Amino acid sequence: MVDFRADIHCHSTCSDGTDGPLDLVRLAKAKSLQGLSITDHDCIAAYKPELFSLAAELGVRLLTGVEISTEFEGIPVHILGYGYDLRSASFDAFLSDIRNRRVERNRAILKKLIERKMPIGEEELLALPTQTHGRPHIAQLMVQKNYARSIQDAFQRFLKEGASCYVPGYKYTPQDAICAIREANGKAVLAHPHFYRKGSFMRKLLSQPFDGIECYYAALPKAQELPWLNIAKERGWIATGGSDYHGSIKPTALGASWVGEAVFNALLQK
Ligand code: AMP
Ligand code: FE
Ligand code: FE
Ligand code: ZN
Repeated sequence: MVDFRADIHCHSTCSDGTDGPLDLVRLAKAKSLQGLSITDHDCIAAYKPELFSLAAELGVRLLTGVEISTEFEGIPVHILGYGYDLRSASFDAFLSDIRNRRVERNRAILKKLIERKMPIGEEELLALPTQTHGRPHIAQLMVQKNYARSIQDAFQRFLKEGASCYVPGYKYTPQDAICAIREANGKAVLAHPHFYRKGSFMRKLLSQPFDGIECYYAALPKAQELPWLNIAKERGWIATGGSDYHGSIKPTALGASWVGEAVFNALLQK
């Protein structure tokens, strides 16, 4: 009997991953994972009936997931939502509102690129087959047009926080995302806490009423998991983890981090 392993943080072509949702289930099976959650940015379109039928056929358990873009004190913060009800109209409306905000934000980024003589048409961006267009797609076009050497280079020089073409302004806070997830009967988890700066920002962020925190992440060294595991223990939060696999645009493999059956079930529990 193989130990139960579920990768519960990865992205499909519905947002900025390069593998389709069905391919992710097939890959999970090939990697001997028994559970999977696809956590696209601000989008739950991966969860179609055919995804559930393929997963059932291959014996891969599915947990509904999403990674919500919020902003806290001017800093972008990602909140994972798990086990929410797919039929929740309010959650659907909440996510669609965030995607609408993305349209405005992408427009503002493209305007900044034009000012720097790096024109990209909005129609070129929208022609990319995804539900959640964002900076990775803009970076991809910048590489195609020779404005940047690689996606990483485009982020480094122009698109990352604080760079010349960065545009802030997600309209919802982590607290809003937590409420929306809870209203849809899901669990709210702070994604990759090690990304954020320590000190008072982190203390305030950690005072939000999360259900869990992502302690295991891609190839994060064991010693760096420990502070987050301690926080989870202190607060009675669920300690989650996943690879944040994005396919060929990032080096991390599916299954690089995982959770066991108890955590998987806890996230499914209503
Ligand atoms: P957005 O949601 O439009 O703000 O874009 C954020 C996404 O861009 C993240 O989820 C990552 O997948 C990707 N990203 C952020 N920073 C970088 C970077 N330095 N290099 C490559 N991809 C990045
Ligand atoms: Fe991403
Ligand atoms: Fe993230
Ligand atoms: Zn992610």
